[in-house]
Amino acid sequence: MRPAAGVLPGEMRQRFGLPVFDSGWVWLAGAGPGDPGLLTLHTVHGLAEADAVVYDALVDERILALAKPTAELVFAGKRGGKPSPKQRDISDRLIELAREGKRVLRLKGGDPFVFGRGGEEALALVGAKIPFRVIPGVSAGTGGLAYAGIPVTHRETNQAVTFVTGHSAAGDVPDGMDWQAIGKGSPVIVLYMAMKHLGVIAERFLEAGRAPTDPVAVVSNASTPNQRVLETTLARAAADVAAAGMEAPAIICIGEVVRLRQGLDWLGALTEGRILHPDPLSETSDAHEDGKGKQRPNLA
Ligand code: SAH
Repeated sequence: MRPAAGVLPGEMRQRFGLPVFDSGWVWLAGAGPGDPGLLTLHTVHGLAEADAVVYDALVDERILALAKPTAELVFAGKRGGKPSPKQRDISDRLIELAREGKRVLRLKGGDPFVFGRGGEEALALVGAKIPFRVIPGVSAGTGGLAYAGIPVTHRETNQAVTFVTGHSAAGDVPDGMDWQAIGKGSPVIVLYMAMKHLGVIAERFLEAGRAPTDPVAVVSNASTPNQRVLETTLARAAADVAAAGMEAPAIICIGEVVRLRQGLDWLGALTEGRILHPDPLSETSDAHEDGKGKQRPNLA
């Protein structure tokens, strides 16, 4: 069911100086991790105005329903086990639609510039001299984890966080980075697209000297009604994910910040009445029984 155009009141567009969506333009927009409430005003505005919406598999139907009834909806993701369309084909389609004089909204899950190939598509537009705008979105690695009650940084635990993809273009464990250095040097690691190779990745971090008891959270379908969260440890992560039947899309967080869930799982408190602990880092649990409480170093 699609509402009539103009989802965003004209008054609001004016007040915030939202840009006019001119024909022949491409807006490369983030749709966030799932919850439509996490859309930006720019994206909602773009959806209401676009003549064509080129969207990925992870974009929620309720979000697509904000497009004009007359808008052409073009699916550019992976469907039913078939390989995803070639990146070049998607870029060509964007260029073609823009050259037809359409206002093209390229809608991607999360943030288009975070493991979303947004840069590649934007560069293709530059090459074709198509004007474009980039609309950032809430990324799964920050907003998705926030829905599980995990802040990616917290002063008592980490002053850095590393975002890593667990999947190379060829579908393997990426080999273009120094896993040892990341495992050793980054107190918190957030893994995208890492479900398939989680066992191998966890092994690499253990080899780098990370504690087997390092806390891990796996959050699938974050911010959607199907959100599931599994708390485990680095040594047990792959086996526990398999046993729990957790499926992609999932975001994986490794590091002490995971323990903050005991105090910050606001969604669990809301939906299941979970009691929140005001000092979660002083708590001991199975995974953290080393007697050192919050002073516990992150690495073995
Ligand atoms: N541009 C996106 C990431 C695209 S890569 C962003 O900024 O979030 C796809 C990966 O993102 C998935 O394999 C998964 O690791 C993560 N992801 C995207 N949406 C998610 C969600 N709702 N819940 C959990 N992980 C998600």
